[in-house]
Amino acid sequence: MNIINSILSNRIPGQVVIQITDRCNARCPQCGMRVTELFARSTLDTDRIKRIIDAAAEKGVQAISFTGGEPLLDIDRLVELINYAGSAGIPFIRTGTNGFVFANAKKKWSEDRVKKIAEQLAGTPLRNFWISLDSAVDGIHETMRGFPGIVSGIEKALPIFHDNGIFPAVNLGINRNVGGVATGNLARAAFISENDYLEVFYERFKNALKRFYQRAIDLGFTMANTCYPMSIDEQEMEKGLSAVYAATTVENIVRFTRAEKQMLFKALISAIKQFRSKIRIFSPVCSLASLVRQYGTEHDKKATYGCRGGVDFFFINAADGHTYPCGYRGIEDLGELPEMNLSRIRPMPEDQACRQCDWECFRDPSELLGPLLEMVADPLGLVRRFAMHPEALRVWGTDLIYYHACDFFDGRLPPNNEKLKRFSRLFSKKQSGKTHHFLKFSQALISTKIPHLRIDTQ
Ligand code: SF4
Ligand code: SF4
Repeated sequence: MNIINSILSNRIPGQVVIQITDRCNARCPQCGMRVTELFARSTLDTDRIKRIIDAAAEKGVQAISFTGGEPLLDIDRLVELINYAGSAGIPFIRTGTNGFVFANAKKKWSEDRVKKIAEQLAGTPLRNFWISLDSAVDGIHETMRGFPGIVSGIEKALPIFHDNGIFPAVNLGINRNVGGVATGNLARAAFISENDYLEVFYERFKNALKRFYQRAIDLGFTMANTCYPMSIDEQEMEKGLSAVYAATTVENIVRFTRAEKQMLFKALISAIKQFRSKIRIFSPVCSLASLVRQYGTEHDKKATYGCRGGVDFFFINAADGHTYPCGYRGIEDLGELPEMNLSRIRPMPEDQACRQCDWECFRDPSELLGPLLEMVADPLGLVRRFAMHPEALRVWGTDLIYYHACDFFDGRLPPNNEKLKRFSRLFSKKQSGKTHHFLKFSQALISTKIPHLRIDTQ
């Protein structure tokens, strides 16, 4: 089903995140799957994954993400699965790594090993490949992951991947250490008011995120993804959330209050606006702006679009191979994907749809494509929404133009610097009178396909 047909049927082309294993060799303090956690690990059987891929393809799913744990622990199997998904007709295939294969840059780093991995992946229909980086400060990332020498190893590996036609995205899981340990660990007691605290919090994160993007560029990355904090707290559990994806956590390093989240997303918008003509950044500003509104107005459902998790997007859990609406709604076991009839799932009315977390894999495409769905399903609602938040239309249009300038984040293409410069020139000026560019883009949009542009926390 192409995007036009999907939108006309009030659906977004499907996305399935398959957790192929929950085994991992990293020590990330922000993740429940770190190697030091004691729980019975699972790896999903290869034939079972293939049956899931077949079913997904047959049901019109367009995007499959192979996540972990650490997907590269068994690269031969991963390559087999990517090839299988490609042969089944899935156009958007993604995976990534915590980068352990690049660690120990001084001692054990092997160019042959990295070349072999790059060549293996280049021989598949993989579209996007991510490599994790948690901080602008190399030593902090290495300590958090437990991989000494990994950052310079990544720096050495990137040209090899580029030579093979793979342009990895740096994957930042936002955390309190993103600009160094001082970024998000402010002593609240030292501030006279909550506003004073939030102002400093905002400034620190804004600067930290800018330093992060600059560091990513300096290392040689040409594409960036940002995973919003995957915290899950008691309050959220009370609302009925129960994580099935153990990348979620209650750890303070990724746990933020509503007010902090609002500042965090504002800071991210500021950093993205400054850097998105220098490095291709997936995160749509329209989605972040919606989250800023969401965390400012608890009851305004029109502040955001409802998430399509459990409607168009699904998560397959490594432990039981079952389908869940997402990584958070672990109490809603939907069973085996091959037995599901996805076309019979009816989206919830907009004001009742889920908005319980910020999982960008599902929230970002829901926001980015939300106006198109609403344009068909409820055009007056769309007009009312944009009348209520007039800035939102310009932000959304700018995102679409940016996605176009980034070749829809095709990770097999180098950045088109000419297009990015043009984008930068266009949006460095005041936006008044630029609506015609948006309209031109809308025409381009209907002749193309928008991929699911998210990748996963690693
Ligand atoms: S907002 Fe989306 S990803 Fe988050 S809990 Fe709801 S369905 Fe799941
Ligand atoms: S975030 Fe990724 S790399 Fe880190 S422990 Fe979790 S699964 Fe492993």
